[in-house]
Amino acid sequence: MLRLPKFELCTPHTVAEAVKLLAECPGAMLVAGGTDLVPNMKHELFTPPRLVSLANVRELRGICTRDDGSLVIGAMTSLADVAASDLVRAHAPALAQACSLIAGPQLRTMGTLGGNVLLDTRCQWYNQTYFWRQALGFCMKKDGEVCHVVKGGKNCVAAASNDSAPTLMTLGAMLDLVGPSGPRSVPIDEFWVADGIYNKQLAKDELLVSIRVPKPPAGHRGAYGKLRDRGSIDFPLLGVAVRLDLDASGAVEHVDIVVTALAAQPKRITKVLELLRGTRPGTPQFDESVAQAAALAHKQCKPLANIPGDADYRREMVPVYVKRTLHAAARGEGPVHHV
Ligand SMILES: Cc1cc2nc3c(=O)[nH]c(=O)nc-3n(C[C@H](O)[C@H](O)[C@H](O)COP(=O)(O)OP(=O)(O)OC[C@H]3O[C@@H](n4cnc5c(N)ncnc54)[C@H](O)[C@@H]3O)c2cc1C
Ligand code: SF4
Repeated sequence: MLRLPKFELCTPHTVAEAVKLLAECPGAMLVAGGTDLVPNMKHELFTPPRLVSLANVRELRGICTRDDGSLVIGAMTSLADVAASDLVRAHAPALAQACSLIAGPQLRTMGTLGGNVLLDTRCQWYNQTYFWRQALGFCMKKDGEVCHVVKGGKNCVAAASNDSAPTLMTLGAMLDLVGPSGPRSVPIDEFWVADGIYNKQLAKDELLVSIRVPKPPAGHRGAYGKLRDRGSIDFPLLGVAVRLDLDASGAVEHVDIVVTALAAQPKRITKVLELLRGTRPGTPQFDESVAQAAALAHKQCKPLANIPGDADYRREMVPVYVKRTLHAAARGEGPVHHV
């Protein structure tokens, strides 16, 4: 049986109190639903002297819209609530779909959107017990100096595996953060860095308060496609988020495709707007452009052997999922996954 290392547990009731408790203890960490952090602590990937639980901070929960039409989701809102919310389904369908496919029902009840955005990167050589990692000689993400995925590699390439992240990128979301020096907001597009050891621009003493999604245009469509081993619970082997905005005549005005679970940060597929702009779903021209976008995505994506699932297989599934997810978005359907 894996035991948790010893730690002090603090249970603040306000954001201000949480920020103070975090700042005053070097190495302290926040815990939201604990569905990722607790297993990681059992694997001794993290051994914080103090955990600051956000469970009682009520101001961090809930979903609402602002006067400017933007959608605001508190960081402590559960994945199940995000997935079931009519507001989210209407305003940000791809996000609702992604949240509905994260882990299994119990984990979606405990797990939060904030914890998902800030999920640690994953690697088959890292998400293992201390004993297992020690037997291998560790790796540079934790306790060691080498990379087992890229021999001789100088950078960790553990995979961003949070299903919400690519959808929030297509939606142009903003992250509202707060730390000892006050609040700041950052576009999610600028939040990630290509470093699997720590792939986010969040200081260790900062807290994510809310996720803000700007009001989408009337013709907004979105969908999420997820490849995974077991349809009922697994992390993504590949995640594809699609945004498709149609103009008043039903033609494509804007398109965005972001792919995840390949490398340390989600990847935007470039040059797809040129292919799809002006085409109308349901026409041969649209179908042809979708096929070209899928081929382009295949060219631009080169998964590594960082997470389970053969890298060549995952690469071949990129165009399949891009194509299916684009068609699902055009039909106002989704998510795309196997069961
Ligand atoms: C069997 C299993 C399957 C899973 N499958 C998936 C999957 O398919 N897709 C997926 O994306 N995830 C999956 N997960 C991971 C996890 O359940 C989810 O990502 C969940 O959303 C994490 O949220 P949490 O509230 O439990 O985060 P926690 O575990 O509490 O925290 C995660 C990290 O975020 C930090 N954090 C949390 N909230 C804040 C905040 N407000 N401000 C600053 N830092 C914060 C914590 O310090 C920690 O580093 C799976 C987990 C398990 C055990
Ligand atoms: S990518 Fe390399 S350094 Fe990073 S966790 Fe995996 S084995 Fe370790």
